[in-house]
Amino acid sequence: MTTTQNPNSARSTRLPETATPLRFVVGSDQTEPQTVAPAIRGASTASVHAGRKREQPYHALHTPVVQSATYTFKDTADVCAFQESQLWGGEPGAERRLEYGRYGNPTVAACEARLAALDHGDDALLLASGMNAITTVLLAMLSSGSHVVIGADCYRRTRQFCKTYLKRFGITHTVVPMGDYVALEAALQPNTRLIVTESPTNPYLRVVDLPRVADIARRHHVKTVIDATFASPINQRPLDFGIDLVVHSATKYLSGHNDLLAGAVVGEAGLIDSLRQAAGVLGGVADPTAAALLSRGLSTLGLRVERHNANAQRIAEFLERQPAITRVWYPGLESHPDHAVARAQMLGYGGVVSFEVGETLEDASRLIDAVRLPIIAPSLGGTETLIEQPALVSYYELSTAERLAVGIRDNLVRLAVGIEDVDDLIADLDQALARASI
Ligand code: PLP
Repeated sequence: MTTTQNPNSARSTRLPETATPLRFVVGSDQTEPQTVAPAIRGASTASVHAGRKREQPYHALHTPVVQSATYTFKDTADVCAFQESQLWGGEPGAERRLEYGRYGNPTVAACEARLAALDHGDDALLLASGMNAITTVLLAMLSSGSHVVIGADCYRRTRQFCKTYLKRFGITHTVVPMGDYVALEAALQPNTRLIVTESPTNPYLRVVDLPRVADIARRHHVKTVIDATFASPINQRPLDFGIDLVVHSATKYLSGHNDLLAGAVVGEAGLIDSLRQAAGVLGGVADPTAAALLSRGLSTLGLRVERHNANAQRIAEFLERQPAITRVWYPGLESHPDHAVARAQMLGYGGVVSFEVGETLEDASRLIDAVRLPIIAPSLGGTETLIEQPALVSYYELSTAERLAVGIRDNLVRLAVGIEDVDDLIADLDQALARASI
């Protein structure tokens, strides 16, 4: 089935020997930047230490929040020296001097180094939101007359961007059903530049066979982009399977507290560098305070995701035993259509469980209104369990038939499981099922 060797087959969380070095020196101490990169092996060590300099200004433990829009020069000679180094690239390994906040920020750079290490990439680009990460990739890598293939379960706004905005620039797209690799290959045209899909997808948690997609793309000289928001790098690292770029809505698991918006792209140095150039023009840069909060969130990523995984698995198994639940969608269940693929390439199955309640829109609404702990809200990946009915939150303006045409069933509930005590969550769902009398 797969052609690329799966380096995760031993379910390893080790990082490559060459962890990403820091590219910025923060503060006035211009001695050789000290990093802890060589000692980093596991994902949780990376999430705590990657991107952190041993010596910070004021001996601070954490990378300072450099809340500055611009950077200064001593005199005209200093300006010219900076411009010269920009033209010829500067001394290898030398500090990259900053000029203006749209082109770089030390707090953002430290967070990017951590993101790169976590996803086993050379480099990462942090942007203002997940959607900004996606649109920056698409705008930077496509040009008029080119074609992109997207997975049918792609985030709705990604599909909307292709359908509405890229179309205006003469860029066409084909939507391919998830898991149909024959259709995927058939959709590729001589002008196809990108395959963009999610794994796992929203809301059915479909899992794409990453080595297989990478193999198809390589044979057709097409680049691949995986939106891995639902997995996080603790559960899945698409670059290890030959995927070119990983995108995350860092708003979700990476930050983990539903208190910021950010997006990330991770990949090979040359690709990220060209995206960085584009981002400097498009302007969707990450705010330094959001980057600092994100770095803090990343420190606990491994612990949080382990708990999300364990809680979601228990809840999925509980729901599968309930007569009122028509179907449960969770890749950690053997009943999920992609369980085998997920087992082969994921280290955990994530915190989102989708399930169908009874038969109707009202059945699902009654259950949602009967739960006491989960909070009704869109989004996922935070500490608190959130619950929503996709038909009413994301597809309200469509009729039942129109929703079905895009695969959204009216009785579907999406539970973004948090890190609470799972017994409390199960007891709450149990009482809600009894009260909702479905
Ligand atoms: N990708 C996925 C899979 C998402 O679920 C979302 C948001 O829900 C996005 C991208 C967009 O991210 P953001 O809201 O950070 O712009």
